[in-house]
Formats: sequence, C-alpha cells, structure tokens
Amino acid sequence: MLTTRPRGTNDLLPGEIEKWQYLEGVLREVAELYGYQEIRTPIFEHTELFQRGVGETTDIVEKEMYTFLDRSGRSLTLRPEGTASTVRALLENKLHAGALPVKFYYIAPMFRYDRPQAGRYRQFHQFGVEVFGAAEPGLDAEVIAMMLDIYGRLGLKDLRVELNSVGCSDCRKVYRAALQEHLKEKLLELCPTCQGRYKKNPLRIFDCKSRQCQELVADAPTITESLCPACREHFSRVQEYLKELQIPYHLNPYMVRGLDYYTRTAFEIVAEGIGAQSSIGGGGRYDNLVEECGGPPLPGIGYAMGMERILLALEKQQVKLPLSRRQTIFLAALGKEAQKAAAVLAQELRQRGLSAEWDYQGRSLKAQLKTADRLGAVFTVIIGEEELQKGTVLIRKMQESRQESLPLEQVGSYLEKECGKGVSEDGAGTMEREKTGAQDSKN
Ligand code: AMP
Repeated sequence: MLTTRPRGTNDLLPGEIEKWQYLEGVLREVAELYGYQEIRTPIFEHTELFQRGVGETTDIVEKEMYTFLDRSGRSLTLRPEGTASTVRALLENKLHAGALPVKFYYIAPMFRYDRPQAGRYRQFHQFGVEVFGAAEPGLDAEVIAMMLDIYGRLGLKDLRVELNSVGCSDCRKVYRAALQEHLKEKLLELCPTCQGRYKKNPLRIFDCKSRQCQELVADAPTITESLCPACREHFSRVQEYLKELQIPYHLNPYMVRGLDYYTRTAFEIVAEGIGAQSSIGGGGRYDNLVEECGGPPLPGIGYAMGMERILLALEKQQVKLPLSRRQTIFLAALGKEAQKAAAVLAQELRQRGLSAEWDYQGRSLKAQLKTADRLGAVFTVIIGEEELQKGTVLIRKMQESRQESLPLEQVGSYLEKECGKGVSEDGAGTMEREKTGAQDSKN
C-alpha cells in the first residue's frame, strides 16, 4: 500500500518527463500563436458545477467522478474535465465583460474513475482550449485546424477527423423523439443505465460501453436528419471552411461525445493504429453552457487533448522528439578547502547560466570522476589541495580526455566561452542546449 500508487495513476519520472516538457512547450507555443491565454483553475470544484455543466446522465457524472465531502460537509469533486471549470472562472471573474471573443487554454490533470488500461487512466492530463463569445462557423474550423497543427508539429501521422453536428436544443427535441421511437420495442434489451437514459437523455446511449446497447443503436436514425435549417446551414459552412483549409474529415452522424453540453459542431481526432484508446482529442461547440451555468447567453467552443495518449501515439508511431539536454560541469574536489572552493565555484557557474554539480562527500578522485561520467559532464574541474594553494585547477574536457591547468578565477569565463553561450543583459544567461534524440535522453 505505502509503496504502491493508486490504480490508474502514473509517476512521471526523469527519462519520460523530458517528453512531457517538450510537449508542453509545443502546446504553449501553438496556443499563443492562435491567440490563447493560459488559465489555471482549482483541481476541485463544487460537485454541482459538473452535475450541471457536464450533465446528470453522462458516464462522467453517473459513474466516474471523484466526489468527496470536505470537513465542513461540502460536496466537492476532483475535476473530470476542464470546460465547466473554465466557464465558472469566466463568470466568477467576469472575463467576458470586455471585448469578445475571449480565448483560454489550460494544461491540467483530470480525474475520472474509469477502468484503467493503456491510454486510459484515473488521473490523466489534458491540454484544452475554450473560446467564448463567437458563434461563427469559421471558428469551429479554426479550432480543428489548430488541433491538427499541434499534432503535425509533434510529428503524428495517420489522423482522422470525425465530424458531426449534434444540433441545437430544438433539433435535439425532434431527434430525441425519433430515437425513443426507434428504441421503443427494444427498451428492455438496453442495459439498466441506458434504460434510465432512454427517458431522460436517449442520446447518451450512443456512448454506452456495452456492446448490446451499441448494437441496438447501430441502425438508429441519425441526428443529421433532425437538424433545423439554421444548424444545417452552420454545419455546411463549417465544412466549407474545412475544405478551404484542406482538412479532410469523416462525417460520423453517431458521434455524440460523452458530455451533454455540446451543441452543433462536435469533433474527435482519432490516431489510426494505436490501439483501443485511439481518440487523441475531441471537442465541440457549447452555445448554451454559459447560460446554463447562470451566465448570460454566450456561445462557446473548445476541445481537449489527452496528453498521455499523444505521447503513446508518438511512441507507437516511433516519432523521435527533438529533446534537449542541459550540459553539466562537474567539480571534483580533494580535501576540505577544495570542497569549499568547489561550493563557491559551483555558485559562480550557475550565475553564469551553466549547470554545475560538485561532490559533497569528499570521496576519492576516482569515485568523483565516475560520478562526472554518470552525469554526462562535458567538463570536470579538478580542484586539488596543492594546486589550490597555487590558485590553479585542472579542467578536463571529458569527451577528449584532455586536461589543462587554469587559474581558479578564470575558470568561470573560460567555461562560459567553451560552452558556447553569452550572458544576456540582465545577467540571466541561457546555456546552449545540446540537441539529442528522444532515445538518448533515456539514459
Ligand atoms: P473528453 O474530455 O472525454 O472529451 O476527452 C478528451 C480527450 O482526453 C480524449 O480524446 C482523450 O485523448 C483524453 N482522455 C479522456 N479520458 C481519458 C482517460 N481516462 N485517460 C487518458 N486520456 C483520456
């Protein structure tokens, strides 16, 4: 127990974390290119927010939420997704009060009590964006283009865009009736959860994981047939934009997505050939959600990508990420005085923007050089007691096994030059990074 993490969670460790940092860098960069600002909301919210926001009859709310009472008896829930929290933050902080639209992105852990398997976890991470205050179809196409832009920059291939329109509340009333009519005779064959959904929200039957329910809706009428003229027009304009942007897509009239708040455009990006958990991102429009959460009528659209799944897809597709590794300088000190000199020199090197480590334990030179090797040090500075009295040290370039003697006070500027970097004006230097492949960084 004490040494086992909870089921469905992961430790992100050195060797793997470099990929996360790279991924986060790309996500942040692209988000900014498209004009999004970062938002960070609490990990837990009032349970009601998700019940109302995500929908009472969704799998997430019915089966998957981590809900608990705090010490004052309030019901709180670890967020299972990012949209409801973003809407709450928008309203609470009146972020919609100025010019519209407003565009936010987040990178955050999410929590769902789902059945864990490769690509499906109980704590996972999403990158997501939300735009409020624009209802036009050009934006729908742009968010899909942005997702593909991200995947493309990462090097993912063989992606499929699945597209649907789930209509507005008017279309949905018509569709609901059509669906209920279709399932009327088969009601008892549905799983107990879906029997409940039949009355309250039959659309949710589409994302039931039971095979029997899946088969019962396989030949159901599609929502496309129930779209009102305005939703039909919106959907066809989204498709015109996608064609203009040369984005191929597959219409999937049965894709309703697992959250209740979607209206009109819904989409999912599927990575072919990566296994059962192939959805690497999805989203849609939610033109009624802000109002349902107690705000003004304000259209919205967003998506979320599963970061674990992106990394899994990259691995499956054997994409080598251009990971960087910081060069390190090791200071080997022999004797108490030398150790003090090493402590001072390490600080100086770091001030110059160089990564430096020294041996705190006063071990033998051989042991210290071994550590330098293990750390992959590019240079080792050997500070010996005798040389120190003369004010000099030995500098060894590790790859070349070449060493030279240098006055201690020149070591900083020498290494700074050797490591090929300049100190920026504010003194906070940036060290040149060594480019290595994803494989190398595993060491
Ligand atoms: P959703 O919030 O359900 O629309 O999911 C958006 C994306 O998050 C999906 O396309 C997946 O990539 C990812 N995702 C959803 N649930 C999980 C999970 N349990 N574990 C890992 N990734 C997930």
